[in-house]
Amino acid sequence: MYANIIVDISHEQLDRTFQYRVPKAMEEAVAVGSQVAIPFGKGNRTITGYVIELTETAEFDENRMKEILSVEEQAVAVESQMIRLAAWIRRQYGSTMIQALKTVMPVKDKVKQVEKIFYHWNVSREEAEAAVCEAKRKHYKARARFLEALLEEGVLSKEEAAKRFQISLATIRPLLEKKVIREEREISHRGGARAYGADGTGVILNEEQRRIADDICRHYDAGDFQPCLIHGITGSGKTEVYMEIMDHVIAGGKSVIVLIPEIALTYQTVMRFYKRFGNRVSLVNSRLSAGEKYDQFMRAKRGEIDIMIGPRSALFTPFPNLGLIVIDEEHESAYKSEYMPRYHARETAIERMRICGGMVILGSATPSMESYFRAKTGEYRLYRMTKRASSGSQLSSVHVVDLREELKAGNKSIFSRTLSEMIRGRLQKKEQIMLFLNRRGYAGFVSCRQCGKAIGCPHCDVSLTAHRNGMLVCHYCGYQIPMPKTCPSCHSPYIAGFGLGTQKVESMAAAAFPGARILRMDMDTTSKKGSHEDILTRFASGEADILVGTQMIVKGHDFKNVTLVGILAADMSLYAGDYRSSEKTFQLLTQAAGRAGRGQKQGDVVIQTYTPEHYSIEAAKNQDYEGFYEREIMYRRMLGYPPAGFLLQLLLTSQSEEKAENLINQYAALIQRRYNGMIDTIGPTDAPVSKMKDSYRKLLYMKSRKMEWLIQAKDDIESAFQDASPGRSAAIQFDFN
Ligand code: ADP
Ligand code: ZN
Ligand code: ZN
Repeated sequence: MYANIIVDISHEQLDRTFQYRVPKAMEEAVAVGSQVAIPFGKGNRTITGYVIELTETAEFDENRMKEILSVEEQAVAVESQMIRLAAWIRRQYGSTMIQALKTVMPVKDKVKQVEKIFYHWNVSREEAEAAVCEAKRKHYKARARFLEALLEEGVLSKEEAAKRFQISLATIRPLLEKKVIREEREISHRGGARAYGADGTGVILNEEQRRIADDICRHYDAGDFQPCLIHGITGSGKTEVYMEIMDHVIAGGKSVIVLIPEIALTYQTVMRFYKRFGNRVSLVNSRLSAGEKYDQFMRAKRGEIDIMIGPRSALFTPFPNLGLIVIDEEHESAYKSEYMPRYHARETAIERMRICGGMVILGSATPSMESYFRAKTGEYRLYRMTKRASSGSQLSSVHVVDLREELKAGNKSIFSRTLSEMIRGRLQKKEQIMLFLNRRGYAGFVSCRQCGKAIGCPHCDVSLTAHRNGMLVCHYCGYQIPMPKTCPSCHSPYIAGFGLGTQKVESMAAAAFPGARILRMDMDTTSKKGSHEDILTRFASGEADILVGTQMIVKGHDFKNVTLVGILAADMSLYAGDYRSSEKTFQLLTQAAGRAGRGQKQGDVVIQTYTPEHYSIEAAKNQDYEGFYEREIMYRRMLGYPPAGFLLQLLLTSQSEEKAENLINQYAALIQRRYNGMIDTIGPTDAPVSKMKDSYRKLLYMKSRKMEWLIQAKDDIESAFQDASPGRSAAIQFDFN
């Protein structure tokens, strides 16, 4: 047996492996991830390496090959754990070992030492608070915003002040001159020491929260690390429960990773963790450069911090002593990587904790079908939170408006009569409104304005997608028909693609509600990093009456003054052309509804739709998760979609269409032959984008009752692909579920 070993665990060195012979006596002890001592270089000095692959093929002359000296069996270094995790990712999702290693290992670039300017308070906390009050009283808006942020955060960099809070030097200079604040130049990183640190003020948990936190801690202490799912309505106080358990885990000497989707990773959310845990917390997000992120990972490795908060990739923080991973908003699709290997953070977190011994807690108001299914079958432990935590705040009332009726009544505006009336009322009362345009997953489906039906695939029960050549195409099986002139269901001529943009909504709102101050948030206005948070901050501080947006269903911002949420076209995500579209719609509507009425005032939610009878809309209206789940799981079972079955998509690309065609047909035949009765194949077919950068793209779908069969099928295709050794002339990519 031979072992491929890496000796320098840094991103750019991962490709450089060295092969060693494994002595017979050690074959039992050596595994992928093992830390080994090896003779290295001309002088054969003994160094440490890590096994990333075991093989029976020698890559060079066996007589010249050195042997492993010893295997470390006692201490399990975090590097070993991460390599084992990489091996699992490689097999589970399909990629090369190098790709998998690069996913789990932090990037070490040449860290540029940049000098940064930081602002600190130069006065006591009381004087600082007084300064904030004074700025507010005198209506120095920018100054108040800056001082308030500084008070919360303790330290602010010049960059942050400018980017996040839009503070110019003109605001800061007088404060420096009056010595209210001082300026320090340091070569530093974000998340360093904070002037006032943790203030220890937590809320007192209510009975429901207490019971759940205690129960989870009890299991944790007993070494029972079954994953937990907390299903708690928006505002039920899940974050407080996480923090209570985190406290317990940290007190026991372990560290914690908290995953929050990037979009929800707002200043407000992060502050809650800083307030409770002070400078033992660090944060990574996409605003950090690779070097800055690496710094934060190294702080975690050295034990300088106990908690890492961040989006998906924070999962790979190299804490040597990890005890807990919390995944908030676990249903978010952002937890699945969009690059190879296409790993899912939830499954990968569970595997990481299985390797190193610790717990995973999932939380959501609208758990994914996968997680709820596993909770129901007993794989996860399920906890429910059913009441809003802060006193006085109630769930909003949800109204569903049938847009077909609006059309009949002659209302051609995008705002129904109910919604318009409510908007006017709110404007009068100086309360705030969010208008949500459901464009997520929008994929060019075609629907009927009269009966509301979208044109779907007869074989796959997903919507067809309009292509520029005038055809409607199914993305699963390739079925296509020319764009019809009339609705296949009711024969009305009013069929069209659903083309409504946020910009159009903004201008229509401006025309319909003169005098209203409107902010817009979408891909255009948030393309600059951090700007989505600026918009939310401005809206929260009352700079506008109406916020129009696409992705604004954000946890982490409590808009106390928002009492009305309008969902303009709930149907859009219903026809996204994939099997999750009902689930996504239900989640979006429920999360949107959760935005209204976070303060003391009663909230209203208006859902405009062409299909009020659809179960995802009915369930959202009744705020009935369970009811939605039962309907949806029935549908998934019937069609063998996850979590009732499993899917694997193979994407094959090649510059030669003939080669692409040949290979994909070959693999389809291979799977049909070897997995007859175990795996159904669908296709092969052209990918939705059938040619990209001069490469032809072909798809093959595989469907099975057992995940393991699909993983084996993937392995088979991988080795067939390698045997064909098409070099750079073709490539394959796998995507599960
Ligand atoms: P979730 O994470 O479930 O959406 P949060 O933890 O964000 O809920 O709590 C919602 C709001 O209720 C927050 O403003 C939080 O400070 C408040 N809150 C949570 N728990 C309590 C409690 N036990 N007592 C008072 N307020 C609470
Ligand atoms: Zn129709
Ligand atoms: Zn189809």
